[in-house]
Amino acid sequence: MSQLNTIFNLDKVLNTNSDLNIDEKGLLNIKYSGTASSNNSNALMTGFITRDGDYVLIELSIYFTVDSECSRCLKISTKDKNTVIKEKIYLKSENDYDIDFKEESIDVQPIISEKIIDSMSLINLCKIDCNGLCVVCGVEQNSTVCKHEEKNLKESPFSSLSELDL
Ligand SMILES: [Zn+2]
Ligand SMILES: [Zn+2]
Repeated sequence: MSQLNTIFNLDKVLNTNSDLNIDEKGLLNIKYSGTASSNNSNALMTGFITRDGDYVLIELSIYFTVDSECSRCLKISTKDKNTVIKEKIYLKSENDYDIDFKEESIDVQPIISEKIIDSMSLINLCKIDCNGLCVVCGVEQNSTVCKHEEKNLKESPFSSLSELDL
């Protein structure tokens, strides 16, 4: 499989006022804090690039899958994602993505990376009530429960005082 193409020639968009329609398929490399785009699936990117006066409008919708690690139990699960991008880039001022319209073609990869990373949360859970790992033995506590009882980990060491009959 080839990489998702993110490089486009904007000759016609800039000079003849026509839209560039985008319909690309390919592998997308995204890796961010416990998540990575899934290797065995293609990303699909559709949308258009158009010029309106002194700016260029980039509208893209990207479907892809990510393998994300549960923040509690570290299990990897694959999730479908859809990121929508709507970005205005002015022709004559600098932009955050190093896009220079004087060059023959532009690469929208920096825009895609930033928007996808923005859309991902730092905390990923395999399920809302994931029980995570035992602090003592490291065994995942969703399918099995080890003998290190949770209450022992959570209770204050002084809690036994409450049992004293003074
Ligand atoms: Zn989990
Ligand atoms: Zn344990």
